[in-house]
Amino acid sequence: MKSASTYNAETIPDLLAPGGALSHDVPSYEDRPYQRELALEVARLFEEGGRLAVEAPTGIGKSLAYIVPAAVWSLAGNGPVVIATHTRTLQDQLLRLEAPRLAKTVGRPLRVELLKGRTNYLCRRRFEALAAEATGSGTQELFGRIRPWMEQTLTGDLAELESLRPGERLFLEARVASDLRFCAHSRCTPDTGCFFKRARARAGEANLLIVNHALLAIHLFGGRDLLSGFDALVVDEAHAFVRVALDHLSDYVGQARIAALVEDLPGRRTQMPALMSGEGASRLAAVHRAYSRVDTEARTYFGSKNGARPGEDPRQRYRDSDELTALNPLSPEGLRDALGTLSADADTLRHFLESRPDEDDDRSLVTRSGIERFRAEVASLRDSFEHLVQPEMGESDQVTWKEWGEGAGFSLRSTPIELGPRLAGQLREGPTAVVFTSATLAAGGDFSFFASEIGLDHGLPSIAYPSPFEFERQAIFLAVRRGPDPRQPGWAETTAFTLAALLQDPGRKTLALFTSYRDLGNVADCLRLTPPDFSLLVQEPRSEPSSLLDRFRKAERALLLGTATFWEGVDLPGDDLEVLVLTRLPFGVPTDPRFAARAERLEAEGGNAFTGLYLPEAVLRMKQGFGRLIRRRSDRGIVAVLDPRLLGKGYGKRFAAALPLPVIEVSDGPALAQEAAQWWRRTSA
Ligand code: SF4
Repeated sequence: MKSASTYNAETIPDLLAPGGALSHDVPSYEDRPYQRELALEVARLFEEGGRLAVEAPTGIGKSLAYIVPAAVWSLAGNGPVVIATHTRTLQDQLLRLEAPRLAKTVGRPLRVELLKGRTNYLCRRRFEALAAEATGSGTQELFGRIRPWMEQTLTGDLAELESLRPGERLFLEARVASDLRFCAHSRCTPDTGCFFKRARARAGEANLLIVNHALLAIHLFGGRDLLSGFDALVVDEAHAFVRVALDHLSDYVGQARIAALVEDLPGRRTQMPALMSGEGASRLAAVHRAYSRVDTEARTYFGSKNGARPGEDPRQRYRDSDELTALNPLSPEGLRDALGTLSADADTLRHFLESRPDEDDDRSLVTRSGIERFRAEVASLRDSFEHLVQPEMGESDQVTWKEWGEGAGFSLRSTPIELGPRLAGQLREGPTAVVFTSATLAAGGDFSFFASEIGLDHGLPSIAYPSPFEFERQAIFLAVRRGPDPRQPGWAETTAFTLAALLQDPGRKTLALFTSYRDLGNVADCLRLTPPDFSLLVQEPRSEPSSLLDRFRKAERALLLGTATFWEGVDLPGDDLEVLVLTRLPFGVPTDPRFAARAERLEAEGGNAFTGLYLPEAVLRMKQGFGRLIRRRSDRGIVAVLDPRLLGKGYGKRFAAALPLPVIEVSDGPALAQEAAQWWRRTSA
């Protein structure tokens, strides 16, 4: 990799060392040897090129360890370094905490910018055009609330609007956010107030460009034109990137997607002159009629009254059209035909508008952009439906399934079985240096599962740093020997009883993690003995995790029951969390279509699905869950595992070995609660 002569990787750790630039500028500076080691590794990688996976547990100072060499590398004339994160919390930390220190540490001014996807930014022209023709009092009231913000914001980032009501954010993203199709003929520039162009312009001049995983996935898999040329990339919180990228590559057709179509279609009373009478009006009416037919056919096809039976996985995999017919005997022909007609009518309407280029005032541009968006979405939906009802005609690396929704009705979905081969293909095109890092990437020092997930399983260089915390002083790790297996009757009652005992004594703030809403609901139903001053917070499928977390933080004493979203990325330091209960080993569900397809593929290749897939995935998840407890050197707390398989099954050793504390065996739930209470008193003395 070409590097400028001013760059010397070996000197980077000095900036972070005692007596170095950082120590002079940060009052709370502490020397972190692993941070310096990691900084040197990253600095060398930028110089030499290659790929590197780094597991850096909380407390190492990972973000400074990569952001300092990234800054020096960029300032030495090597172009921008892109840093992709999963959470907004980490983006904020990089921007507001690390970036201001950085300039002093490296001794030169540098630019750190945040770029989000286009739909995060308000478009003034769409806003004004829609405001001019909004007749509903709700829309007018919403626009009245937003206008003062629009006039003073420097970024136009819709995330700054914190007090939106449910549904308003989605409405704004759909109707007034920046949209490429609307921009195509526009004459806006960053100077005339286009927030997105301004953000892009700033991003183009950045030394360090911070993006989220979703934008990185769009860039890598969507034509590589979102981010300007960069040769070095750091993917932080990398454990989450595979899921985000797969989401980007997934597809679905269902009633909700079809219902959303109509948002972009101008109403019959549109104010665009070309559509108010004559041919334009009749073309628009034809599109409305065709849409009504699609809507009716879709309700018939997807609207079965039979949902998944209680306790059954709502997802049913199918491999070809015959298997789909067995799951859903209704023919797709009616919907297929209706989509074809709608697609043709939308094309005709667009051609008609193209023949009237003279109407290009802002209001007409909004209408045109809506129609273009509608037409493109109909074409894409039609393609998706074709692939989903005949998966045998598509690519063999896709898995397809039928999924029941919350109420009646289902959708058809697909996703790549593996991300690895696609990602590896994209990374071969560049950038030259890529660091994947997270607090959890390896199972007992073994990165092979993560490496295969990202398609770099042929000798991916990797480093796993130990935690800088003194776990044996700060925490205790208890697990039950006896009790019902989570799949047996009585597990929910026993779990609820143990939770209630922990709330009595030591009586600290407690987070209990589950692997399914069903388990969580069963335990919540059995929890009748919680002390009266404890707030019981229960995650439900429609709960907003961030608001549950806020309530948990604010509560004096609380028990939070959470599922998948709470196993990772939750930061509850100090007395915000002192007891963490892992109710069962977090094995993936075998009926998960992608998991099942991967297991099948692995076995067909001669591998073992349990040891090669289910177990390492569950061990990594367990580590993530475990990591919620100790976030600072001053934290202390109790981890309790209520799944007897940890001690009773041979594979339980793999879990125990991956965790940073020796497990203390107790006979059952009551004994666990007693041991926890004693430890708390002992260590509080
Ligand atoms: S360039 Fe596009 S996004 Fe920006 S203000 Fe103009 S129309 Fe809106």
